Amino acid sequence: MRVRKRKGAMEHLENHPEYVILEPEKAKGYWQDIFGNSNPVHIEVGSGKGAFITGMAAQNPDINYIGIDIQVSVLSYALDKVLESGLSNIKLLLVDGSSLTNYFENGEVGLMYLNFSDPWPKTRHEKRRLTYKSFLETYQQILPPRGEIHFKTDNRGLFEYSLSSFSQYGMILKKVWLDLHASDYEGNVMTEYEKKFSSKGQVIYRVEAQFKD
Ligand code: SAH
Repeated sequence: MRVRKRKGAMEHLENHPEYVILEPEKAKGYWQDIFGNSNPVHIEVGSGKGAFITGMAAQNPDINYIGIDIQVSVLSYALDKVLESGLSNIKLLLVDGSSLTNYFENGEVGLMYLNFSDPWPKTRHEKRRLTYKSFLETYQQILPPRGEIHFKTDNRGLFEYSLSSFSQYGMILKKVWLDLHASDYEGNVMTEYEKKFSSKGQVIYRVEAQFKD
């Protein structure tokens, strides 16, 4: 997601420790304490401006959501949305998806979402794709046995790549949608990119992939 650098974005994040966890190493193993309940913790890696994670948190008050992004300005816009929502079951994290084992204990994350991840179409950039095997190793550690990744994209190349990456890793493709919006899938919460691309007529792909134990 390309956004112009936002002035004061870091300060904005720092001013809201009730939502933005700025020393995430200390949170490892304590996420439910931070939320103040024993509800499951679900994360989105690459949460962008936060439409999905905020929408999910509103729809599912008994789940704790964490939106994760590496861009300060982008996360600051997500913070605006979270502040506006007033929800208490959502937190934001400014970290890299490749280093999640520093911030989450084994099995601490109940479910994870990837939405409209950067496609990195060039073969030499394969390792940067969030569905590359080194990322899957990281996700597997923080998820429970048989944990799931729910992934949406409009990018056919990245979708094809991800299906084979999941399957080569030994994951089960529990369910695949080749046109989510034309399906009977209920309760879909749209992301910013999903709104943008589907309004231009692009189909939306979705997969639920499950690790084996
Ligand atoms: N999920 C949103 C945004 C998609 S754009 C939507 O669907 O609208 C992809 C986002 O992933 C960008 O905001 C980018 O900053 C973030 N991102 C890219 N690589 C990342 C990484 N390694 N760790 C965390 N976030 C990452």
